[in-house]
Formats: sequence, structure tokens, C-alpha cells
Amino acid sequence: MEIRCSWCTALMGYKDGPDMTTHGICPDCAEAEKAKLDRAMIRKYNAGVVDMIEDLMMFAPIPKARV
Ligand SMILES: [Zn+2]
Repeated sequence: MEIRCSWCTALMGYKDGPDMTTHGICPDCAEAEKAKLDRAMIRKYNAGVVDMIEDLMMFAPIPKARV
């Protein structure tokens, strides 16, 4: 059974099994897909300033109450 990348169809290797093609993702395409996902997340944040501020506040240290 040959293993091909579903994105660029690069041959990634072989494994035991029926004479057919199975699909995976090659390291190059995995990296490209991850970068696309990162950009999509950034666009989402840019589109929703309020969400971003709320998310940032979750990570900000809790200010000490003034006495
Ligand atoms: Zn690929």
C-alpha cells in the first residue's frame, strides 16, 4: 500500500496492506496548513477586538486589591 500526501500527492512511503493508496499529510504540507491556521486565528482576533482583550485578560496577572 502506498502512502501519499492528500495535499501535494507526494509519495511518503509504503506500508503492508492491499494494493491501493492511503493518504496522509507530508511534513511540508503539515507546516503550510499550520501556518494557514495560525493566520486564520490572527484574522479572527483582528476582527474581534473585544474577544482579544477578554482573552488577554485571562492571562494577565490578577491585580492586587488596593487597601
Ligand atoms: Zn504534501
